[in-house]
Amino acid sequence: MKDQSKHVSIDPTSVATSNFIRTIIDDDNRSNKWNGRIETRFPPEPNGYLHIGHAKSICLNFGMAKDYGGVCHLRFDDTNPEKEAQEYVDAICDNVTWLGFEWGKHLYYSSDYFDRLYEFAEYLITESKAYIEELTADEIREYRGTLTAPGKNSPYRKRPATESLDLFRRMKAGEFPDGEYVLRAKIDMASPNINMRDPVIYRIRHTHHQRTGNQWCIYPMYDYTHCISDALENITHSLCTLEFEDHRPLYDWVLDQLVDKVPCHPQQIEFARLNLTYTVMSKRKLIQLVTDNLVDGWDDPRLSTLAGVRRRGYTPRAIRLFAERIGVSKADSWIDMTVLEDCLREDLNASALRRIAILKPLKLIIDNYPEHQEEDCFAPNHPQQPEWGKRTVPFSKILYIEQDDFMEEPTKGYFRLSPGAEVRLRYAFIVKCVDVEKNTRGEIEAIHCIYDPDTKSGTAGADSRKVKGNIHWLSLKHAQPAEIRLYDRLFSDPYPDSGDKDYKKALNPDSKKIISGYVEQALIDAKPEERFQFERNGYFIADRYDMTPGKLVFNRAVTLRDSWGKTAHA
Ligand code: ATP
Ligand code: MG
Repeated sequence: MKDQSKHVSIDPTSVATSNFIRTIIDDDNRSNKWNGRIETRFPPEPNGYLHIGHAKSICLNFGMAKDYGGVCHLRFDDTNPEKEAQEYVDAICDNVTWLGFEWGKHLYYSSDYFDRLYEFAEYLITESKAYIEELTADEIREYRGTLTAPGKNSPYRKRPATESLDLFRRMKAGEFPDGEYVLRAKIDMASPNINMRDPVIYRIRHTHHQRTGNQWCIYPMYDYTHCISDALENITHSLCTLEFEDHRPLYDWVLDQLVDKVPCHPQQIEFARLNLTYTVMSKRKLIQLVTDNLVDGWDDPRLSTLAGVRRRGYTPRAIRLFAERIGVSKADSWIDMTVLEDCLREDLNASALRRIAILKPLKLIIDNYPEHQEEDCFAPNHPQQPEWGKRTVPFSKILYIEQDDFMEEPTKGYFRLSPGAEVRLRYAFIVKCVDVEKNTRGEIEAIHCIYDPDTKSGTAGADSRKVKGNIHWLSLKHAQPAEIRLYDRLFSDPYPDSGDKDYKKALNPDSKKIISGYVEQALIDAKPEERFQFERNGYFIADRYDMTPGKLVFNRAVTLRDSWGKTAHA
């Protein structure tokens, strides 16, 4: 059961500058342990798409290497051919590049080391440090003991090395079916650490491998492969998540046996994995959401996959900022989704062009504006960046405003339009509502206003009168229809998969709404993945795939402020 009491919300203004891993690296540099060399690696298994948790590990491994002038390797840990595929390899490369990191020539695969791993296994056998087991999987489990009871030695533990070697070679030659034998390290069946009770290091799998084809029918296990791969690549600091803490003695044991055969003995350092509220982050659950069609594929903008957050509108910089801000520690904790969302707001507030969109249109007719007249208004591309210039927004007699910006019977403190009230149409004139036009069903069709021609923004008369409300608008004639996808959190429960909850029952039914809105003309040329602030409406991205010159499609990345619980879910 996940401990919700440790839930923390990070102060969004604090930026982590140091952490225990930097302290270790600084100490190593001072003592010259690695001659100043820093070499890290990000070692995904290509069996699924990466998620935001992996981004923490990517930013940490690549980020440390970058900060210390070292290198970071991208290594595919491809020792489980049944579950792995090239499709995932390609997607992972794409994610890492998108996040802004480079592995240069350091792209590796654990399968690159199959020959060396095999050779080392033979060596361990000849040194009586490994033996061929023929107990069944169930028997092995039985012999292993429990957390409170020691295991007992397998009858095959004393098998002579020559016999084990012969069997191992015949395993490799394909003489036996899957599961007939395994190779086990000979460590200590009474160890309090179960990982040290003669772990299996090789198994028979007559399976085609995406890189080595049918060359192998025996495959090394993760714990054996990982430490040797690190050592062969000269990794200095092998950073991994806390669940590997109990595997560290095995990591060290394997490398200690091979001390004369591998170039170095990297230091494994564990850190707490990212837990983020309102998401699930296990590859298995992500796969289920996709295969059960509960989302629209791997890059559904509501998913925590990196492909998903990219399509949602997240910037690589926002994710790197998030990784920096949450920091790294040894303590498991929960990070609130607002921390991630605020990182995006912060980035886009500074970088996104301002544009106008009307999401829920209401017609506004200016009775005293000449029928065929049009004029230009000028709106800044960014309020804090005057050098980014202004663009022209055409004004005419019939406009669209947001339905929410009009109330026939205003509540107390409502300063937008209502009968008799005045507002400023941003970048244009002050208008006063004089009439409400309804259809036979009593629904509002349009509202009528009169405008004050002496109050145009940017002219001397602009400040002659002050009004409280300031609303956005588009000229109906010039507005461009657009498909607008309003995304929200995928789950309505902050801990959708804690305890024995069924995360599929925690889905937020309002996480996706597709609406037909209007956008200003300047957005016709928006490029796929270009991001904007739609004034007063939030941050949006032109959809990576569906945006075309003939069809404008924008996804809402995030609202302007954290409105969770206040609007959609009140
Ligand atoms: P999952 O647990 O989601 O099925 P995994 O952790 O087994 O995935 P890997 O491909 O082995 O996936 O992960 C690659 C690296 O990413 C590992 O070093 C792993 O520790 C790290 N990683 C995975 N999930 C997280 C997370 N939530 N936070 C930080 N690092 C993570
Ligand atoms: Mg893993």
